[in-house]
Amino acid sequence: MTPVFVLVEHQAGVPLETSLQAITLGGMLGEVVSVSVGACQVGSVGRHIEIEHPMLSDYAPEAIAEALTQLIRADSPSGVLAAGTERGNEVMAHVAALLDLPLATNVTEVRPGDESWEVTRTRWGGSLLEEAFLTAPVKLATVAPHVFEATNSSGSAESERFTPELAEILERTRVVERVTISEGITLTTAPVVVSGGRGVGSPEGFGILEELAALLGGAVGCSRVVTNNGWRPHSDQVGQTGTRVAPNLYVACGISGAIQHWVGMMASKNVLAINNDPEAPMVTKADYAVIGDLHPILEAVVEEVKARKGL
Ligand SMILES: Cc1cc2nc3c(=O)[nH]c(=O)nc-3n(C[C@H](O)[C@H](O)[C@H](O)COP(=O)(O)OP(=O)(O)OC[C@H]3O[C@@H](n4cnc5c(N)ncnc54)[C@H](O)[C@@H]3O)c2cc1C
Repeated sequence: MTPVFVLVEHQAGVPLETSLQAITLGGMLGEVVSVSVGACQVGSVGRHIEIEHPMLSDYAPEAIAEALTQLIRADSPSGVLAAGTERGNEVMAHVAALLDLPLATNVTEVRPGDESWEVTRTRWGGSLLEEAFLTAPVKLATVAPHVFEATNSSGSAESERFTPELAEILERTRVVERVTISEGITLTTAPVVVSGGRGVGSPEGFGILEELAALLGGAVGCSRVVTNNGWRPHSDQVGQTGTRVAPNLYVACGISGAIQHWVGMMASKNVLAINNDPEAPMVTKADYAVIGDLHPILEAVVEEVKARKGL
């Protein structure tokens, strides 16, 4: 089997779920060679290569792309995958430019052939599926998040080290400072997201959503109307121009379910819509719906959850 590189993003050595999903696809296409910048525990999925260089102590897209390109030139894999995250797409776009090869972003399916990969990929924020042929000596693709099951990262594999040669100029794009804007559970990691739209009516109206989110160990999200109105910060916005979430439960309160919102939460395992319009797209697409004014409904839900928790 020919090697397929998978660039693994990680946080302090723990691979991101989306990267483990990319490894799953890699395993369907060839012999996985996972590649990480710095040490990362990817488990015993095949070969693992750690890229090491003082310039790569934090995210530096141009330098990472150059390092990956040098590895690709040395090893000639049949394909290179990364997660379809902002960083994965950014690094792979640089790699494609450096190698002068095409890149298929956000693929949901790959049917490998002798010369080409026939891919299905999402476009326009997930509202359109495109069928395409990727014909290149090295096929470059990023993997749409939450389409494939994540590969189990337990166990450990021997790591090979690779030290690229990086010109100083590549340092011009790199993370220089980190500012923490939220602590604890974040929108992307929360198992429950309680999200509000125009129907919430005011910034104060979000109090009851915050209470329910706290009781369920979740986070509060919102629609773009809410951020446009200045009721919540943009960091809370879910959707095409906000954050993409995939919680176990997404509670959409007073959100109509416009496509630009839907693409940001359609990967949720369960969707509960609370809306006074039974015809709202969010209601018709949700797994569960409660029709009525969201305020008394949420108050009743909070009371019930508290009672069941003995609070
Ligand atoms: C390029 C582009 C990008 C965009 N990106 C995003 C994005 O990232 N995220 C996003 O959310 N939107 C985005 N939008 C905007 C999107 O098209 C919608 O306008 C927006 O999602 C609507 O927000 P909403 O559902 O809160 O408001 P509305 O569409 O006004 O819906 C409000 C809902 O609340 C219900 N309601 C009202 N009062 C109550 C009540 N008391 N109790 C219960 N239900 C009630 C109504 O029945 C209605 O269904 C984008 C648009 C464009 C053009």
